[in-house]
Amino acid sequence: MNKISTTLLAIGFVIFLPLIVPAALVWHGVYLRRLRVAADQFKCVGCGHPLERKSIHLADEEWARRMQEFMNRYSGVKPRVVRNLHAICSRCGRQYQFVEKIRAFVETPA
Ligand SMILES: [Zn+2]
Repeated sequence: MNKISTTLLAIGFVIFLPLIVPAALVWHGVYLRRLRVAADQFKCVGCGHPLERKSIHLADEEWARRMQEFMNRYSGVKPRVVRNLHAICSRCGRQYQFVEKIRAFVETPA
């Protein structure tokens, strides 16, 4: 990419930044709402208990722990990771991935 097109791209990015940031915030809010609604409605396949928001918090903590462990093990490596853990049943510990396309959870392969 030549210097002029890079400059134009940077200028365009700055001009549209006031639109990009709010749009990203709204999109993320919509995603979180869909995740929470799905968790409230989904019943664990292991114990039948609804996942609820606590399961999302458990998954967030577990994912942060896994990422920290990865960064400690492979420091200096820029990871390309697709998150596959979005909920952990608070009763039996089964792990689920949220599939936004169907707005439901599927069990994470062990
Ligand atoms: Zn369960």
